Amino acid sequence: MQITAIRFILCQHELATPIPLSVGVLTHRNFGLVEVETDAGLTGIGETSVNFPPWCIHERRATIEEGLGPMLIGQNPLEIGRLWNRMVDGTRGFTRMWGLGAIRQAISGIDIALWDIAGQHYGVPVHTLLGGSHRNQAECYAVGFSAAEPDKGATEIIAQGYRAVKIRIGFDDDVDVAKARATRAAIGPEVRLMIDANQAFKPPRALAMAKRLADLDLAWLEEPVINDDAAGYAALRQAVPSMRLAWGENACEPEEVDAFLEAGLVDVVMPDPCRCGGLTGAVEMCRIAHRYGVPFSPHHYGSDVGFAACLHLVASQPNFDIMLRDVAPVPLRDAIINEPIAIAGGKAAIADRPGLGVTLNRALVEKTCVAL
Ligand SMILES: [Mg+2]
Repeated sequence: MQITAIRFILCQHELATPIPLSVGVLTHRNFGLVEVETDAGLTGIGETSVNFPPWCIHERRATIEEGLGPMLIGQNPLEIGRLWNRMVDGTRGFTRMWGLGAIRQAISGIDIALWDIAGQHYGVPVHTLLGGSHRNQAECYAVGFSAAEPDKGATEIIAQGYRAVKIRIGFDDDVDVAKARATRAAIGPEVRLMIDANQAFKPPRALAMAKRLADLDLAWLEEPVINDDAAGYAALRQAVPSMRLAWGENACEPEEVDAFLEAGLVDVVMPDPCRCGGLTGAVEMCRIAHRYGVPFSPHHYGSDVGFAACLHLVASQPNFDIMLRDVAPVPLRDAIINEPIAIAGGKAAIADRPGLGVTLNRALVEKTCVAL
């Protein structure tokens, strides 16, 4: 079997209400799909994260179709590890002056599609190929309910069966703390509450905020400082030792993960399969975390193609904690695949179909895709 074509497809949903994040405002939800075609009639699908910055959609098309694609055309798609190294080694020289993260996110989409092809070829779900099945459902925490009134939004989400919710901070500290307090009061002590700062703070402000949030019994405080600021994480640890810290959605190098965990800087690792080198990269992050006795919580903020990939990761690795489920009203996210992911009582079912177990809704892809 040989790879014959690799395509990047951007599907876009314009938001009626833009989403504020500490790194900027999302006006559109972008879903970066990757298709890998073979001469055997099998096509694999994957996803690459294209949320920020806004121009990354152009970079991603070029990196996938003009940079990585030619390295893989004619190759055997079943040799996933070798092809992963071919892509990583073939772009190593560009990572410092251009961008490791951008390239690794591009590789992610292709890697997921290769796993999909392999699963279809062997007639088994991807999680079987990744090591086996530890579970057939994944507990989720909800993200993306009302940012203006998170207490009300969280209450509605709990009524749907979720037992964990996450809110975002990094805007106005007094308002953020008030919203966090109102949310905790609304959900009561039994529901898990996560808070995500999206790298918004310099260490002094992060320390102050961690102290102000310390009595809310948080499941974790996520990315309080910039992703590679190990000293900032260490300072937080020392100042507020009771605060559990989550980190990893912006990490992709095993050495970095190992260093953070060896130093005891974080309590939860958050591999994002659409960013950190696909399922190949995410499995490696999970395994490093497992060695340190640290749980993982997959990060995914994209379409249900990537969510399906996360579910295979969750099934295959022992140290799973809980995973992100975006509940914002973005119908395209769910409808882009033909096999809806069943979520009931805050738990997502993990399918046993071959490959990723999902196929693209072609009519919707055609209707929502954007020419680049
Ligand atoms: Mg986050």
